[in-house]
Amino acid sequence: MIKSHALKIQNAGASMEHSVIERRELRKHDILIDIRYSGICHSDIHQGEGDWGEAIFPMVPGHEIAGIVAAVGSDVTKFSVGDRVGVGCFVDSCGECDYCLAGDEQYCTKGVVQTYNSLDYDGQPTYGGYSQNIVVTDRFVVRIPDKLNMDVAAPLLCAGITTYSPLKHWNAGPGKKVAIVGMGGLGHLAVQFAHAMGAEVTVLSQSLSKQEEAYTLGADHYYATRDQDTFSKLAGSFDLILNTVAANLDVNAYLSLLRVDGTLVNVGAPSKPDTYSVFSLILARRSLAGSLVGGIRETQEMLDFCAEHGIAPMIEVIGADPEEVQHAWERVKQSDVRYRFVIDTEQLNGN
Ligand code: NAP
Ligand code: ZN
Repeated sequence: MIKSHALKIQNAGASMEHSVIERRELRKHDILIDIRYSGICHSDIHQGEGDWGEAIFPMVPGHEIAGIVAAVGSDVTKFSVGDRVGVGCFVDSCGECDYCLAGDEQYCTKGVVQTYNSLDYDGQPTYGGYSQNIVVTDRFVVRIPDKLNMDVAAPLLCAGITTYSPLKHWNAGPGKKVAIVGMGGLGHLAVQFAHAMGAEVTVLSQSLSKQEEAYTLGADHYYATRDQDTFSKLAGSFDLILNTVAANLDVNAYLSLLRVDGTLVNVGAPSKPDTYSVFSLILARRSLAGSLVGGIRETQEMLDFCAEHGIAPMIEVIGADPEEVQHAWERVKQSDVRYRFVIDTEQLNGN
């Protein structure tokens, strides 16, 4: 077994603590990655605090992983020691169902194996990126383009692909009016993607405090949702709304902002169910949708798109001390992060 220093949560809502975990010995298609940076996603907090129901503990969160290949199994041909690589939300899938074959591994019919809070197909719990190293089958490893620094690459592995994929799927592009709700980790990347795809981009944030940065990132318009006039002013405006908010919203109010045939896509995942009136859909042939992360092929495409278009998250790098990471979680919960915390996991060396 391979040892890895890690940050562990013993049970739902418990404080983070230092721990040493074991990674499996390399199988033929496995890659051992020395993790350099690990992003903090709001989903880590939802799962670590048990927001989404039962979870697997102890938990080592982290699914925004950037690192260097340290060793490869005998049948690995695509990667070599020293390569700069990333791992996102998934570490295995059946590879045979319609969705896997189409490159949508996240919807695998056998059940995709998540990077943490999941059981691997061998029955072992998976542990995520708040750790020194990870062993992953090569199919789930992507290459970080040379133009992207490792620290900014990490958040792209979840926040990046989770926003890129639906924007592409629902055709954000020239002539389309797209609104991004919530300018946090996901939202501030969504603004950059929608702009680079050629859409007219509006940010709907709780307050005006992020306005200047939104314009820098490529937004064309910006409104505060705390101002009720926003909803009357923008009624029937958008072709596509991407909701990245981690809390429940007034769904009817946001649906009213869509044009006929418009779509409200949820990627934000609050723990409690939303309610809405079906008339909000019927009266303008609107759609309400959701989207889960993105497939591996598309994740590579997204990283290459970022390198080509100069897209990167705005990050705050922190150390790997349990208290420091816990404090970062509290700040994420208060919407007090601009715009993604990234843990420098090299500091997780047991000293
Ligand atoms: P985040 O950095 O905390 O950003 C969320 C943003 O939502 C905040 O910055 C804030 O933006 C806004 N917000 C927060 N509380 C709000 C409230 N009560 N009312 C209105 N707006 C509020 O979180 P994140 O990491 O981007 O993740 C966002 C959500 O996406 C989480 O629920 C996460 O679990 C989910 N997620 C889903 C997927 C998927 O595959 N579907 C993947 C990753 C994450 P403003 O200050 O601009 O209002
Ligand atoms: Zn995530």
